[in-house]
Amino acid sequence: MTVSRPEKIDHIGIAVRSIEVVLPFYQDHLQLPLLGIEEVASQNVKVAFLAIGQSKIELLEPLSSDSPIAKFIEKRGEGIHHVALGVTDISGRIEEIKNNGINMIHDVPIDGAGGAKVAFLHPKSTHGVLYEFCEKSK
Ligand code: ZN
Repeated sequence: MTVSRPEKIDHIGIAVRSIEVVLPFYQDHLQLPLLGIEEVASQNVKVAFLAIGQSKIELLEPLSSDSPIAKFIEKRGEGIHHVALGVTDISGRIEEIKNNGINMIHDVPIDGAGGAKVAFLHPKSTHGVLYEFCEKSK
């Protein structure tokens, strides 16, 4: 069984201390339109999406100190956190990549922003990059 390859970079996730503080840079200076802001309970974060062509920039602000984003900022400061690959059939893709010996952080997709199903690959299996599979709800 072969699952179709990722179709695009759905978004790049960027860890920030405060969406409110960084938003003027993205909106006024880079001039990217804001698509929306929401809280994602499964990750304990607030996210803002900005459009850039077919892709997006996702700003991630921790909602508590035990959020994975809070831990990331504590260790490495603000900056690029993950790259999200747009896929269809996320469960099939997880299955396939695990069968090929790649470890996942999430073996089962979790609820991401905008009703998407998401799952992170383990950075030890991906040579240091945190990748997210992201399947949009139709
Ligand atoms: Zn993401």
